[in-house]
Amino acid sequence: MEKQYDYLIVGAGLFGSICAYELQKLGFRCLVIDKRNHVGGNLYCEKINNINVHKYGAHIFHTNNDLVWKYINKFLSFNNYRHSVIANYKNEIYNLPFNMNTFAQLWKISTPAQAYDILESQRIPCPSNFKTLEDHALETVGQDIFEKLIKGYTTKQWGRSTDKLPASILKRIPLRFTFNNDYFGDTFQGIPVGGYNPLFEKLLANVDVKILTNFFKERSYFTSLATKIIYTGPIDAFYNFEFGYLDYRSLEFQQRILPCDNFQGTSVVNYTDIQVPYTRIIEHKHFEFSNSPSTVITYEFPKNYEVDSEPYYPINDTNNNQLYRKYHEKSKKDVNIIFGGRLAEYKYYDMHQIIASALKKIKEETDRKL
Ligand code: FAD
Repeated sequence: MEKQYDYLIVGAGLFGSICAYELQKLGFRCLVIDKRNHVGGNLYCEKINNINVHKYGAHIFHTNNDLVWKYINKFLSFNNYRHSVIANYKNEIYNLPFNMNTFAQLWKISTPAQAYDILESQRIPCPSNFKTLEDHALETVGQDIFEKLIKGYTTKQWGRSTDKLPASILKRIPLRFTFNNDYFGDTFQGIPVGGYNPLFEKLLANVDVKILTNFFKERSYFTSLATKIIYTGPIDAFYNFEFGYLDYRSLEFQQRILPCDNFQGTSVVNYTDIQVPYTRIIEHKHFEFSNSPSTVITYEFPKNYEVDSEPYYPINDTNNNQLYRKYHEKSKKDVNIIFGGRLAEYKYYDMHQIIASALKKIKEETDRKL
């Protein structure tokens, strides 16, 4: 019997919605379901006092990929917002990422040569082959930057002290010897004028969508509706955790509406002191240069992941990566199911990477079919 849909897409986030849009354009019938009460996944914005509030954390679009930039600009127009971050350590203010402004604030110096000298004198070499994050940071940036700007923040972010975290979590620590505070070096950057919701309104305009619908609550019913499934939820849940639970870092957001027009003078302030329980405060109006007389701020508290909380960041350490590979190997045998996105691939993807990856998956899929 012919099925009602060609594709059931689980998850109305960026990956699922792009797949739905591209497939419906080619004439395939798609049903998108999402367990949340809105579409858009973590890009969802809520309008409060005329300010687009990024409900699931600050989302800044940035890419060097010309095709991805052209693609997203078909749906959204971007302002010229450039992201830069302030760090607050015990009320001392520093610019991030580490650059000449940071070095001047830390050491009252003014030239790159002075900065090289101080960094060199502070670095602590570590001969071990198994470096912790702390070893790696001390070796790269030395004591002052590590103590004031990395140690407390990273401990809060990952819920483990820096001598218990693998160096790989920190990736590369950028050191910039110019007075440039740009957080991202990408050619194309910005915030969509009017927030991210219009993107999803356009992507899903001609697709059947059901929100407040958890795939696992009616798995066999939804599976019976379509020939193929595109699944963007956590891969371990799809396989009923049969090899074990993948670990994530979760977040709690606490939002406040304040009767002032400017709370912190910028969109993101990182709190790097371990004594402050949150990692950052977002002031949403600065993303779109709003002149609203009030403001909305969000405190971000990292927390341990439990199965009922939201899985925000995959923890790509050795154990979790091994576990993920078992699920991935199994998933390759399920030829009627396409796994994609940050939860199903257990990978920290930025938005531009999700767009590139969804377009690639759909091309592979439709090249096979058409
Ligand atoms: P998601 O957005 O998570 O979408 C998955 C969807 O699947 C969700 O809506 C979920 O409800 C749904 N789902 C899951 N399980 C089920 C189920 N059983 N049944 C039905 N539905 C289900 N990227 C950037 O480029 N710039 C940034 O500044 C940036 N900041 C970020 C800040 C934070 C705090 C976080 C967490 C991420 C940030 N990202 C940023 C990354 C960005 O959010 C992701 O690249 C993007 O959201 C991934 O899209 P996705 O579709 O894979 O996942």
